[in-house]
Amino acid sequence: MKITVLGSCSGTEPMPGCHQTSVAVETGGRLYFIDAGENAGYASYLGGIPQQDTAAIFITHTHMDHTGGLPHLLWNFRKLCTINPDIAAHMRDHVIQVHLPDLSVFDGVMAMLRASEGNYETVFRLDPHQLRDGVAYDQNGFKLTAFHNYHLGTPAAGMPFLSYTFLVEAEGKKVLFSGDFRDLSEIAPAMEGCDMVFLETGHHTAAGLCQELKDRGIQVGKVVFYHHGLEILHDFEGELAAAKAVLGDRMTFSVDGSSYQL
Ligand SMILES: [Zn+2]
Repeated sequence: MKITVLGSCSGTEPMPGCHQTSVAVETGGRLYFIDAGENAGYASYLGGIPQQDTAAIFITHTHMDHTGGLPHLLWNFRKLCTINPDIAAHMRDHVIQVHLPDLSVFDGVMAMLRASEGNYETVFRLDPHQLRDGVAYDQNGFKLTAFHNYHLGTPAAGMPFLSYTFLVEAEGKKVLFSGDFRDLSEIAPAMEGCDMVFLETGHHTAAGLCQELKDRGIQVGKVVFYHHGLEILHDFEGELAAAKAVLGDRMTFSVDGSSYQL
């Protein structure tokens, strides 16, 4: 399994060389996206990641730093089919699942796509799914389970949670993507025993999260920080040194293009 951070930045103002949140996971000959920040389509395509193998896209929550690149990514799938007959043949009758906590956002993206070119008529099909707690996807050796968190608060009675943390299981490995979250306690149970955890620093300091992991005695393999907040964006080396002082080489800071083999 190869995991590539396409964008490592949180939802702040545009930063040089650091795009908003998106991760690509390649396993079993298929491609999965975790969030689709502004440059998901651009960075994956130019990074040589085969978009034509996309099986599913999972959006943790519908803030712009996690969805801004979704229309362009989906647009690019169609574009590749219109300019490359081999890709069109490969993608014919493919079903690409799109999981997100608020289907009105999918409807809005589709409105953009249909108004862009060719009414978004394609050889493949998009299949939207509303995220809920539980297993969202379990096919071809890739299993993704969603756990709600409190980044967007507690919904009114009868309304769904709108922000999720994802646990991916593939090739006998477990990888957690925190998405944006409020407190480590929300996601700690799902982290236990993970081979790799991606933790966001847009609402937390890396050193603070490292200390909490240590204090709670949570056993995980590698800790990768992403969705960087202003502390890291303004002082990458200083924040890295502070976090390393707590967890040592068990942690690392991702940058755009960082990739990890599991
Ligand atoms: Zn965010």
